[in-house]
Amino acid sequence: VEIIRVENVKKIYRMGDNEVKALDGVSLVVEEGEFLIVMGPSGSGKTTLLHLMGCLDKPTEGEIYIAATAVSKLNDSQLAKIRNKMIGFVFQQFNLLPRLTALENVELPMIYAGVPKAVRRKKAKELLELVGLGDRLHHRPTQLSGGQMQRVAIARALANDPMVLLADEPTGNLDSKSGEEILKIFSELNERGQTIVIVTHDPEVAKHGDRIVRMRDGKIVSEEVNVHA
Ligand code: ADP
Ligand code: ADP
Repeated sequence: VEIIRVENVKKIYRMGDNEVKALDGVSLVVEEGEFLIVMGPSGSGKTTLLHLMGCLDKPTEGEIYIAATAVSKLNDSQLAKIRNKMIGFVFQQFNLLPRLTALENVELPMIYAGVPKAVRRKKAKELLELVGLGDRLHHRPTQLSGGQMQRVAIARALANDPMVLLADEPTGNLDSKSGEEILKIFSELNERGQTIVIVTHDPEVAKHGDRIVRMRDGKIVSEEVNVHA
C-alpha cells in the first residue's frame, strides 16, 4: 500500500531576482510499513522533500499524493487537517512548547483534533510510557535531557496515530548514546508497523533504515535496500 507518492516534483525558492532549485525532478514512493532513509549532504534538498511529503509546503511542479489524495487540489485548511491527522513530525530542535509539561505537549495535537480531555490524557500518558518517560509526565522541557525531549517529541508525533512519521535529523542535536536510544525507539515503532521516513546526512543513522535513497543537488542519485537492518 502506498502511503506517499512523490511524482516528478520540482521546488524552486524565489527570493527577489534569485532562484534556488531545491528539488529538480524527484520521484519516490513510501510504502506502508517501511523504514525509509533519505540521505544526502547539506543543501541537497532533504528538508525540502520532507516538508513537501508532510504537506508543510507545496511543490512548484509535479504532484504529491498522500494516501492517494493529490495535495495540489487541497486548500490550506485541508492541508492542515492532513498534517494533524495523518502525519507525525519529529524535528532536530524538538520544537516542544517550553511552558507545557511533557504530558501537555503530547496532548496538544489531540486538542487540535478535538479528542475529549480524559481520552487524550490517557493516550498521552500511554505514549510517554511507550517511549520510556512514564516517570517524567509533569516535567517541562527545560527539566529534561535532549534525548528525553526528543522522546517527548516522538510521543507527540504519535498522538493522532499518523500514517507516517517524518523525522528531520532527529539525532542531530544529541550525543551519540542518546542518538542511538532514539534510533532504537524508531526501530521498535517500525517493528510494530509504523511507517517512518528519516532524512539525514549521517551514515550512522542511515544504517537503521531498510531502504536508503541518496540525494544530491535536488535529485535522487541512488537507492539501495539495507540488508543489515
Ligand atoms: P538539506 O535539507 O539537504 O540541507 P534543504 O532542502 O534545506 O537541503 O535546501 C536545499 C536548497 O534549497 C539549499 O540550497 C537551500 O539553501 C535552499 N532553501 C531551502 N529552504 C529555502 C527557503 N525557504 N528559501 C530559499 N532557499 C531555500
Ligand atoms: P530545519 O530542518 O531547517 O532545522 P525544522 O524542520 O525544525 O527546521 O522546521 C522547519 C519548518 O517547519 C519551520 O520553519 C516551521 O515553520 C515548520 N514547523 C515546525 N514544526 C511544525 C509543526 N508542528 N507543524 C507545522 N509546521 C511546523
